[in-house]
Amino acid sequence: MHKRLAGRLERLEDEGLRRNLVELIPGPNNRIRVGGRDYLNLAGNDYLGLAADPGLVRRFYDSLDDRNLLERFAPGARASRLMTGNSSLYRELETRLATLYGSERALVFNSGYHINIGILPALATRDDLILADKLCHASLIDGMRLSRAEVIRYPHLDYQRIRTILEQKRERFDQVFLVTESIFSMDGDLADLGELVRIRDEFDLCLYVDEAHAVGVAGRQGLGLAEEQNVSGRIDLLVGTFGKAWGGQGAFVACSDIIADGLINQARSLIFTTGLPPVNLHWLLFLSHIIPGMEEKRDRLRAISAWLREGLLQRGLRTGGNSQIVPVMIGDASRTVAVAERLREAGFWVNGVRPPTVPPGTSRLRFSLSATMTEEELATLPDRIESVLA
Ligand code: PMP
Repeated sequence: MHKRLAGRLERLEDEGLRRNLVELIPGPNNRIRVGGRDYLNLAGNDYLGLAADPGLVRRFYDSLDDRNLLERFAPGARASRLMTGNSSLYRELETRLATLYGSERALVFNSGYHINIGILPALATRDDLILADKLCHASLIDGMRLSRAEVIRYPHLDYQRIRTILEQKRERFDQVFLVTESIFSMDGDLADLGELVRIRDEFDLCLYVDEAHAVGVAGRQGLGLAEEQNVSGRIDLLVGTFGKAWGGQGAFVACSDIIADGLINQARSLIFTTGLPPVNLHWLLFLSHIIPGMEEKRDRLRAISAWLREGLLQRGLRTGGNSQIVPVMIGDASRTVAVAERLREAGFWVNGVRPPTVPPGTSRLRFSLSATMTEEELATLPDRIESVLA
C-alpha cells in the first residue's frame, strides 16, 4: 500500500499537483508569518477582517463571564446535538439567523462541508433529480454522490440549458433540486438568482443556494447575494458558512420548519457528529449582532476588489468575476505553482489553484481580498504579476 501511494505522490509532484500543509502564524490585518518571513495573506477567506481584528476578539473575550464559563464558553460540546451537545446557545443563534433571513427556521451544522454532504442525501430520493452548476464546490458534489437521486451538471451559469433539461425531463421526476453557489468560490463570478427563482417557480423546483462566499459580504446587511438580488424569501435552502467572513466555524441553512425537522431526523452529518464548541457558538451570536451593521466594510471590500480587477485588466491579464475573489488565469498547473512562488518572494502569500479543485487546463492564481486591505499594500501586485508572466 505504501509503495502504491508513494508512486501516486511522485506522479502528483511531477505534474505540479502535490499538496502540502504549511504552518502559518496569523497576525493582525491579514499579515501572516511563514518560515520567519512576513507576508500579506491573499489566500484567506477572512473577508471582513474580523478573525484578525485584535480589538474585536478582545471585546469578545472580555464579554466572557466566569459564572457562565462552562455553560456558555466551554471549549467542546461533549456530545452530538441529538444526545447532550445541544444548548440554549444553538437556539439563540438559530432564532437570530431565522429572524435575519426572514425564514421559518435556521439550522446550524458543524461546517459547510458537513451541511453540503448532509442536505441532499437527507432530502433527495431515488425518484428525484439534482441539477447542479458544473462549478459547484466539492462539498456539494460529495452530497450529490451520497444521495440516491439522478444528477445532471449543467454548464456554468447556462440557465438556458437548465430550461431545456427541465422541458425534457421534469415530468419524469418527483422532486427536482436546483443547486448553485451564489458567489462562485474559484471564479468569483455571480449566479443570477432572480432567473433561478423564476425557473424554480415555473418548474416547481427546490432551489438550494450555497452562499459560503457571500454571507457577510453581499447585500445591505451582509446576508448574501439573495439579499442583494432581492430574492431571499424564495430560496428553499439558503446555506451560509461561518468559516469565512464570520471568522468562526460552522454553517447554517435558512429553510422551512418542515425541512429543518427533516434534516434533524435524516441528515447524517448533523446526527452523527459532536456539536460545535459553545465558545464558537457564542462568537457567532456575538457577530450576528455586529455583521449586519458593517456596511462600510462591505463597501470598502467592493472598492478594493474593483480596483485590483481593473489594474489586472489594464495590464491585459486574464481575470474575471465580480466579487472579492479575483482570479488570474494561467492554465498550466506547474506554471501556476511557479508564478505563485515568485509572488511569495515579493511578500504576497498567494495560492495556485489546480485540479482537481478546478478543471484541467484552468489552473489559476486566486486572490481573495479582505476589507482591511489597502491600495498601498496591493499597489505593486498587478505589475509584479505582469512581469512574472512576461
Ligand atoms: N461551500 C463552498 C462554496 C466553499 O467554498 C466551502 C469552503 N471552501 C464550503 C462550502 C465548505 O465550508 P467549510 O469550510 O465551512 O467546511
